[in-house]
Amino acid sequence: MVIKKLAPHEAQKIAAGEVVERPANIIKELVENSIDAGATHITISVQEGGKTGITITDNGSGMDRDDALICFERHTTSKITAFDDLHTLTTFGFRGEALASICSVSKTTITTKTTTAPHALQLHIHAGTLVKEQPTAHATGTTIAITDLFYNVPARKKFLKTSATEWNQTSTLFKAFCVAYPAIHFILEHNNQTLYNCPGVTNLLDRTAQMVEPYVTKHLCNLVPQTDKHATITGVITAPQYHRYDRQSIYLLVNNRWVKNYELSKAVLKGYANVLQPNTYPYAVINITIDPLLVDINVHPKKEEVVFLHPRIIEQQVTAAVKATLEQQLSHQLQRPVTLAQPTNNNHQSHRALWAPHQPFAQTLEQLPPVFFKQPLHTDPVIPEQIHSNANAQHATPNIEQLPPAFTETQDSYLPVEEQSPYTLIGQFNTTYILVEHADGLMLIDQHAAHERILYEQYRQQFEHPETIHLLFPLTVTLSTDDRQLLVPHMALLEKHGFATDFLGDTTLLITATPVFAKTINMQELVYEIIGWIKESTDINPEDLFKKMTEKLRAQLACKAAIKAGDPLTQEKMQELLNTLTRTENRFSCPHGRPTQWLLSTRDIEKKFKRIT
Ligand code: ADP
Ligand code: MG
Repeated sequence: MVIKKLAPHEAQKIAAGEVVERPANIIKELVENSIDAGATHITISVQEGGKTGITITDNGSGMDRDDALICFERHTTSKITAFDDLHTLTTFGFRGEALASICSVSKTTITTKTTTAPHALQLHIHAGTLVKEQPTAHATGTTIAITDLFYNVPARKKFLKTSATEWNQTSTLFKAFCVAYPAIHFILEHNNQTLYNCPGVTNLLDRTAQMVEPYVTKHLCNLVPQTDKHATITGVITAPQYHRYDRQSIYLLVNNRWVKNYELSKAVLKGYANVLQPNTYPYAVINITIDPLLVDINVHPKKEEVVFLHPRIIEQQVTAAVKATLEQQLSHQLQRPVTLAQPTNNNHQSHRALWAPHQPFAQTLEQLPPVFFKQPLHTDPVIPEQIHSNANAQHATPNIEQLPPAFTETQDSYLPVEEQSPYTLIGQFNTTYILVEHADGLMLIDQHAAHERILYEQYRQQFEHPETIHLLFPLTVTLSTDDRQLLVPHMALLEKHGFATDFLGDTTLLITATPVFAKTINMQELVYEIIGWIKESTDINPEDLFKKMTEKLRAQLACKAAIKAGDPLTQEKMQELLNTLTRTENRFSCPHGRPTQWLLSTRDIEKKFKRIT
């Protein structure tokens, strides 16, 4: 006899793996139960990202003694009596498994009281077994406290990620609940600190305003609703002037349930096509109200994914809603008196013009976050004459002469000999491209992309030992409280790069010193990007983050300092650029991955003119 029946408790531990993998899953199940119990006030309190403690308190119906004693057993539910109910069921739970699973892999205390009960009841459950029952004091409602998660399943405990990663999941989940249920008062605490306190509100716009960083509020707008006979799409999204660096803030709700759906997220981003720069994302809450018969919510054990009967139609509706909203926003702006960008904004304008050519509305001063301007903006656009003459130390823009020569022994030796001088200059075309005669044809070189690559490679050497300057007026970056929590463990990263930082209150990061070469960096953007990377990575590896940041700094600096498209160049300047480019590593693409040069082969030209066939 080989086959054995597992003891019920062992079977339960295994089953638990389906629902309970990490703290955020537990919190999701518990909060859903609280909502099902009619709670209007829910407090979520976690320790160490939930690894050492999770407590959910609600003011819902509570349970009487009989219910409380069986609620943590398998297949016990007050929400369904027959399988036929499944389809039309609107409550979260229906499997009666969540609480059983959670209790089987932890030490759980359930404290609960109904309105009619004289006092509350407290149950202590260890690994699914009731170990103690006692009367206690508690308002009407339920508190479920979980400690020692996975104490009896060490294998699973090992799979828990760092507290920061677990915390990130929880704070995202929290925000999803908040936007799905604006009327409920939600509180989120981490390590005994209240990070979010969101009293109930009457509409989604007010709710999202509670969730985002203060300066984002003015970019929020109601989605232009789309309705057809099966579904209605509503929501809140951000205007084109706002972007973030992580995809996590696109919340999709189907009949109030937070779901993940790659195609739907793509549909949202499609609505932003040509409006946001590559690798930047909006903040969006998309609410899909749909006939429950047209959607399957049970394809995933944790009910995180959905399958629509007609997915393409829904996706098109979502894209249409986003597009309509952005168009409406832009036409509002057209009707507003135009604020001309001031010269101080020059660099950002030209930067945008290069990377978002379709964006019709350049940022005006009032549209940018306030902190944006607390930085010493570099005011002189780099024009060719300055590249030669500007040795003035107060301008941080590096020029070719100021930088160490890119031509080094090592770089020289790796170049094949015939590539040493392949160009004969013809001239400049459209004040953007340098035309050269090449052994194999006509070469077009994008002057911005090429110069950007040259500078990027040159900065590599400077970055090794950054020289710092103390700022008379520290730069400030506003953070949300949970973003701060994410960033704090990685502060050494900034230090290593020569930035000195401090916190002013809970949410203001002060930059008190920067590396000399980084004077012109937009710190706010940089810090937000770092936070974006932390959020996007499931496991944060400090080394990778350091590398990423170094690259980002280099790319940002290079982009700002490089000759722009539209800058007229002298023959000498072009020649110099070409000479330097020949000696530059990775010279075929700019740091953003765009090509620096394009060869129109003599053969193709001759074919075009029918000299050859
Ligand atoms: P399901 O939610 O699928 O019914 P659960 O295991 O999540 O299964 O919960 C089992 C039962 O315990 C629920 O049906 C409900 O009756 C009761 N329950 C759980 N949490 C609460 C709560 N916070 N308030 C009131 N009742 C609850
Ligand atoms: Mg449930």
